[in-house]
Amino acid sequence: MARKGITRRDFLNGTLVGTGALMMGGGDLAKFAQAAEAEAAAKSKGTPYYPPKWTGMRGSHPGAFERAHELAREGREDWGGVTETDEEYDLVVVGGGASGLAAAYYFQEAHDWKAKVLVLDNHDDFGGHAKRNEFESGGKMRMTYGGSQGFDNIANWPEEMWELLEDLGIDLDKFESENYDHGWFKRHGLKGGVYFDAKTWGRDHMVPADLGDMAPVMPGLGEGDKDYAALFAATPLPERAQKELIKLYEEPNAHAMIKRLDEEDPSYDSYPYEKFLMDYWNISHPATFQFLRKLPTDENGVGADALSLTEAGIAGMPGTVKLGRKYGLSQETDPNDPGYAHHFPDGNAGFCRTILYTMIPEVAPSVTESKSAEDLILAAFDYSVLDDPENDTRIRLNATVIEVKHEGPVDQAEQVAVTYIFDGQPHRVKASNVIMACWNMVIPFVCTELPEKQKEALALNVKIPYVFANVMVKNWHAIKASGIGAAYCPTSYYHLLQTEYPVNMGGYAVTEDANEPMPITLIRVPVPEERGLAPRDQFREGRNEIFVTEFEEFETEVRNQLNGMFGAHGFDDQRDIESITVNRWSHGYSYTYFTLWDKGHSIENGPHIQARQPFGRIAIANSDAGADSWLDVGVMQALRAVRELTED
Ligand SMILES: Cc1cc2nc3c(=O)[nH]c(=O)nc-3n(C[C@H](O)[C@H](O)[C@H](O)COP(=O)(O)OP(=O)(O)OC[C@H]3O[C@@H](n4cnc5c(N)ncnc54)[C@H](O)[C@@H]3O)c2cc1C
Repeated sequence: MARKGITRRDFLNGTLVGTGALMMGGGDLAKFAQAAEAEAAAKSKGTPYYPPKWTGMRGSHPGAFERAHELAREGREDWGGVTETDEEYDLVVVGGGASGLAAAYYFQEAHDWKAKVLVLDNHDDFGGHAKRNEFESGGKMRMTYGGSQGFDNIANWPEEMWELLEDLGIDLDKFESENYDHGWFKRHGLKGGVYFDAKTWGRDHMVPADLGDMAPVMPGLGEGDKDYAALFAATPLPERAQKELIKLYEEPNAHAMIKRLDEEDPSYDSYPYEKFLMDYWNISHPATFQFLRKLPTDENGVGADALSLTEAGIAGMPGTVKLGRKYGLSQETDPNDPGYAHHFPDGNAGFCRTILYTMIPEVAPSVTESKSAEDLILAAFDYSVLDDPENDTRIRLNATVIEVKHEGPVDQAEQVAVTYIFDGQPHRVKASNVIMACWNMVIPFVCTELPEKQKEALALNVKIPYVFANVMVKNWHAIKASGIGAAYCPTSYYHLLQTEYPVNMGGYAVTEDANEPMPITLIRVPVPEERGLAPRDQFREGRNEIFVTEFEEFETEVRNQLNGMFGAHGFDDQRDIESITVNRWSHGYSYTYFTLWDKGHSIENGPHIQARQPFGRIAIANSDAGADSWLDVGVMQALRAVRELTED
C-alpha cells in the first residue's frame, strides 16, 4: 500500500542523518552541517519563525549537532576567519535550556536586572529538552511536550525552587487541584494496559491491566484489575513465564524471602536485581526477564539487567515491593497525594516560556501584564525579538559554541572570548563571565584550558538517549474504544504509549470529545539487545542507534505499532494520523550513578562535583552538574553557578 506523506516532513531526516553522516570524517560533517543550516533557515521562509510548529525530526534536529560533532568527533580546529562581533556582555550563557535560562535570570536578579546577558544555543528553539510541540488538525491547535514533561520530585525541592516558582507566577497548588483533571481518564473509561505485538507473539494482544505501572505516571489513569492470575492468563506469555510473573507481582510469602535475605545479608547495592530474582524467587524463564527488561527504562534509562536490588526496590520492580517498603526504599502511595500532576500543557516548555518572558517580555506582545504563567499558554511568541540588541537579555539560537577561552592567564583575565558557529561562520563575543549550561560532556572540547582531571570528570556524564515520537491523531475513537489510555509495550519498538496529560490551563482545554484531534506520545529508550552492558555503554550504543535511524523508520514503527495496538478498534494509520514529530534526544537525561557500576559514587560525592568546579571566570551548570536529570536540578545548578560568579 502506498503510504501517505506526513505534512511538512523534514526531508533532511533521510538524507543527512543516516548512517552515512555518522561514518563521515575528514570534513564531510562540515558539508552536512552547511546543508542542514541552509535547510533550517529555509524552514521558516515566508512564515514567521516559530519552531514549535515544525514537525518531522525534532529534538536533536538536523542543523543542531553537526558543528559539535565536527569539534568532538573530527577534532576540527580550523574554522576559518572569525567575525569579531565587538559585542561585550556581563555574562554569556552556553545552552538555552531550563538551566541556561535560569542562569540568565538569576544573574539578572543579582544585578538589578541591568546586566548585559547573551544566551547561545545550538538548537533552533529555546528550552533544551523542555520543548514545545504544536500540531494542527481540523482547525484545532493542540500542544504537548517534546521532552521534559512535568515537575518531578517536588517533595524534595529546596526552598529556592519554590521561591522561584512564586516569583514566576507558577502556582503548583493550582496545577494539582484545578489544572490537572484527575477525573478525565475515569470519565472516558481509560486505564493502563500492556501491548504484546504480533511480530513477537504471533498476533496483537492488548491486555487491559496496568502491569507496566503507568498509573503513577499519569494520575487518574485506571489501574484496572489486580487479579494477576487472570490478567497473565490473557497474555501470550508461555505458561511458565506467566506463573513466574504472577508470583513476582503477588509476592506470596515475601516475609520468608525477606527473612532469608536478612540472614544472608548481601549488599543490596551490589546485588543484581535479576540475580536476586533467580536466587530468591527461583525465576528462570527467558520470557519473564524479557517482560521485565524495559520496565525501568522510563525512570532509569537502562534495562532491568543493569539494576541493583536497591534500585529495583526504589523503582518498585516486581518481586521487591514488600522488601522495598520494609526497608524504606519505597512507600505506599498516599491516596491524597496528587502524584505526577504538575504539568503545563506543553510540559516544562511552559516553565521555559515563563522564565524567558520575565527577561524579554516583548516576546509575548499580546500579554501586557502577566500575573500568572497561565497568561502565556496561548500567547503568540514572537521569536524575532529574542536577539534584539535593545534588550538586556538576548537569546541567540542556531549558535553552536566551539570555544570558550580566557583572554590571557586565567587568574588575571578580565574577559572570556566565546566563539560560536552561526550561519555557517565562526563569530566571537566577549564576556566578563561565562556559565556553561550545556551538556557537560561537550565542555572539555569547548573549554580546552580546563585542567585535565576536570575534563575527565566532565566526560563521564554520558547522557541517556530517548525518543519521544508525538503523533497527532485526528480523533481518538479507537483509543477510547480500547479502554487503554497508556500502555507498557515490553517487546515493541516504542515501549511506552501515553495519551495527552489532561491539563486545562490558560484557555487551553483537554479534549473531551473523541471526534477531536489529540497528540499522543510513543516513547523509545534504545536499550541494546546485549545484556549486562555497563550503563554508559548502553547509552553510547543507544545514542548511536537513534542517531543513524532515519525519520521514515521512526515513522513506520509508529504506524505499525498504532495499527497493532488500536487496529482492532478501528484505528487506521493512513486515515487517522495527521502528523508526526519525532523528538530524538541522543543526549537526553543526565547520567545518574548506578550502584552496580559506579561503586561508591553518589550524588553527594560523585565525579560531577569535580566536573562542575568554577575555573577563572567560567562556572558550570546544567542538570548534568547535579548528576540528576530533573528540571529543578538544572535550575538549582544554575543558581549555584551564578553565586560562584557573583558572590565573594
Ligand atoms: C525525553 C526527556 C524527558 C524528560 N522528562 C522530564 C520530566 O518530565 N521532568 C523533569 O524534571 N525532567 C525531565 N527531563 C530532564 C531534562 O533534562 C530537564 O527537565 C531539563 O530540561 C534539563 O535542562 P538543562 O538546561 O539542564 O539541559 P538541556 O535542556 O539539555 O539544555 C542544555 C542546552 O545546551 C545546549 N548545548 C549543548 N552544547 C552546546 C554548544 N556547544 N553550544 C550551544 N548550546 C549547546 C543543548 O543543545 C541544550 O539545548 C527529561 C529529559 C528528556 C530528554
